[in-house]
Amino acid sequence: MKQLELLYEGKAKQVYATDDSERIIVRFKDTATAYNNLKKAVIANKGLLNNDISAMLYRHLEAAGICTHFIEKLNERDQLCRRVSIIPIEVIVRNIVAGTMAQRLGMEEGTRPSNTIIDLCYKRDDLGDPLINDDHAVALGLVTYGELKGIYATTRRINEALTALFDRVGITLVDFKIEYGRTSGGGIILADELSPDTCRLWDKQTGEKLDKDRFRRDLGKIIEAYGEIDRRLKRLEEEF
Ligand code: 5GP
Repeated sequence: MKQLELLYEGKAKQVYATDDSERIIVRFKDTATAYNNLKKAVIANKGLLNNDISAMLYRHLEAAGICTHFIEKLNERDQLCRRVSIIPIEVIVRNIVAGTMAQRLGMEEGTRPSNTIIDLCYKRDDLGDPLINDDHAVALGLVTYGELKGIYATTRRINEALTALFDRVGITLVDFKIEYGRTSGGGIILADELSPDTCRLWDKQTGEKLDKDRFRRDLGKIIEAYGEIDRRLKRLEEEF
């Protein structure tokens, strides 16, 4: 597998073409951003941890029967993935109220609602990733109603699989953001990363935040928190 030209550079990742038109290399950078790019930093080794954590979570989802873009981890910073065209919708799953939902609805962070909430946001930095509903997503031409039905069903299965996995390592999966992509054959599969940058993860015993909120809220010990998630998942993976 030969790495070719840079196709795309985002806030936390680079995507390279390969000599196989159906495969790309995703490189995890050490940069962190928050609040629509207003806050930026370089956090040494964050990319290595996110690559490792994302690979473990993707392997787990594949084993649970979810179709994803992930093929294999290549080295400390890179993973090989299927090439997709990302659908510009952030699908956010909330098991516990936190972040923008707490702010927007005046709810206390940590409240556990009786239902699981799935938000859709239009992935547009210039608009601040606005919250949208199904009708908006269809009106924007991003997806059909039928595709949304499939996306919601898969998202619920992903939430069940990840919630159970994190539960086994003493972590509450508070919320997370995922993205889907279209393959050249037209199928819709899970894409992008799954890491403490894209999930809220709270230690079940202490309530300690082990995710990007440590950066967003200046709580310090970011790498220690990401390292803790990596260690716990690795220990579990080694048991099997
Ligand atoms: P909130 O809407 O509360 O800011 O975020 C909800 C969940 O989705 C959190 O786990 C957060 O990390 C994730 N999330 C939402 N938007 C983004 C985004 O633009 N980038 C990343 N990396 N995660 C996001």
